[in-house]
Amino acid sequence: MKIRMLCPQCFEAVQGNNIPDILTYLDWSFPFVQIDKWPYFELECANEHKYKYTLSNELYDLLFQQATYCIQDGYFRESIGTYHAAMERYFEYCIEIFTYYHNPDTDFKKLWKIISKQSERQLGAFYSLWLATLGENPVFLEEKRVELRNKVIHQGKLVNENEAKDYGKYVFDYIRNSNSKLDSKLGERLAECHNKRRYRICKDDIKKLTDISAKGIGSVNIPSYLSDVTEYPDYLSCFQKTQINGIGFVK
Ligand SMILES: [Zn+2]
Repeated sequence: MKIRMLCPQCFEAVQGNNIPDILTYLDWSFPFVQIDKWPYFELECANEHKYKYTLSNELYDLLFQQATYCIQDGYFRESIGTYHAAMERYFEYCIEIFTYYHNPDTDFKKLWKIISKQSERQLGAFYSLWLATLGENPVFLEEKRVELRNKVIHQGKLVNENEAKDYGKYVFDYIRNSNSKLDSKLGERLAECHNKRRYRICKDDIKKLTDISAKGIGSVNIPSYLSDVTEYPDYLSCFQKTQINGIGFVK
């Protein structure tokens, strides 16, 4: 999976003082960046300008995007494992948000070290924290989803397109619905907790990044299937629009 970006330096050189509506920095001049780590990526354009960015998209968001690309390209079996990975990383994200919500001084790294080894522990922590924070039961993960994922991963089970899309829709609806609940119930505290998580993840690498001779460090949010509610109102719409203009994720 890649990110299609623009090079700020080339953009400014070409676009200059033109009226914003007349684009002279054309589509073909956007550089592509292969995503092989999270949350950082490095951009180098054809003119050798270098930039460093941190992605503000969450890892679950990237995994969901990649799993959907798998279906689009006919790799149905592979999509199941990646969708499931997106769910598990989503639970991790929520657990961290909830712990900061209850205690901003939580040493999350220490807690995660203990529960990260077993997905069942993570699920238990997610359920309990959801109930404690939102005052209602979470939607419990359907057992048959986990069984299918395990058969795919451990027994080489093959699946067809419908099974893969059924799994994808389940994950899409689960994350979208949960996020809108978090939004409405946690309000401004959600952004606070989210920023705290970003800081924890990025702080150790900031120095490393500044040592590399890349120009500037910026944070960028790439519109995705999960985050772009207007463009992708439901799961099916992820398969209807395949062309992107400007900045975005590509296969
Ligand atoms: Zn450039």
